[in-house]
Amino acid sequence: MAYTYDDQNIFAKILRGEIPNDTVLETEHTLAFRDIAPKAPEHVLVIPKGAYVALDHFCAEASDAEIVDFHRTVAEVCKMTGASPGEGGEGYRGITNAGENGVQEVPHYHLHILAGRPLGPMLL
Ligand code: C5P
Repeated sequence: MAYTYDDQNIFAKILRGEIPNDTVLETEHTLAFRDIAPKAPEHVLVIPKGAYVALDHFCAEASDAEIVDFHRTVAEVCKMTGASPGEGGEGYRGITNAGENGVQEVPHYHLHILAGRPLGPMLL
């Protein structure tokens, strides 16, 4: 995989503790924190602690333990924010942006979890 990771990106700085964040949940391999500019009442970013640029990079190169930990954290965040339909919540949207066409601002893989209001149809 020909990805190059920029360790000066803002999420790398958050993971090193150089920039504060509003943590929702932290596990061995994953960090979930509130987006600084929320687009919904609940807007949480879930990121792996490892140096992965985008979803496909993470899926190709992360260990099974990292991949499982990441997705279990997503499940816990959906539960904690009251968003999970399986827990009686009203639902959420998970979004990830990659590269230029995806208009990815921060080159460290992150999944946006948006909830707390009707999100409307997905824009394409
Ligand atoms: O998917 P994309 O890369 O465009 O999103 C980056 C997200 O990171 C934005 O929603 C932005 O508000 C968020 N951000 C943050 N804390 C920072 C810098 C950016 O939550 N310090």
